[in-house]
Amino acid sequence: MYCVKCGVRLTDGAAACPLCRTPVRDPDGAEAAPAAPTYPERYPAPPKTRRYPILAFLTALLLAVSLSAMIYCLTNLHAVSWSGYVMLACALVYFALLFPFWFEKREPLIFVPIGFGLTCGYLLYICLYTGGSWFLSFAFPVTMLAGLLTTASVLLFRFGKRRRLLKIGVLLTVIGLSNMLIEFFLCITFDTRMFAWSLYPVCSFSLVGLVLILCCTIPGWRAYLEKKLFL
Ligand SMILES: [Zn+2]
Repeated sequence: MYCVKCGVRLTDGAAACPLCRTPVRDPDGAEAAPAAPTYPERYPAPPKTRRYPILAFLTALLLAVSLSAMIYCLTNLHAVSWSGYVMLACALVYFALLFPFWFEKREPLIFVPIGFGLTCGYLLYICLYTGGSWFLSFAFPVTMLAGLLTTASVLLFRFGKRRRLLKIGVLLTVIGLSNMLIEFFLCITFDTRMFAWSLYPVCSFSLVGLVLILCCTIPGWRAYLEKKLFL
């Protein structure tokens, strides 16, 4: 037997050429046998999705509901009247809940803020239509606050891999404190009493959040919690 690279004569059973170190492959050995291909012959077809017919059905249903409400109002009341609420609510449900599912990859960082923005628009319509004055001092800031906190949570669970326990602690504390802000907006808009209910969520959320933050300062506890919570 000779080396395939330099032609040196090899001793029987040699694993490599003594001159050029080229590994010896024995044509009679197991290695020489062509391995059966482990991959399929054809490119696998993508799994058939059944969600498109369902989505189309739900879209048609929403369209039918909004159109029938509009036709009813126009023929019986001779005005858009309450069908405006119905149509906008259908549009909101469609864009916030159904529209993202038309895409293979749903990017929550795009769809979550869009959903909250649309909710804001819907509330503005109701406020203007009913002649209310609660949009700027209550509905807008509260919806934005909820949108911000939800987007922050999405960001945290998608990208915040490092020191996640600490970030969750901070987020919980902020969610707790935001309840006080919501009560403040209620107070200045509807003249409700301040500190009537907000201290309960503030205390419970902040307490859990602060415990998590505190645990981050003790390495043993942090490791234990991260393991227990799969972080
Ligand atoms: Zn050789």
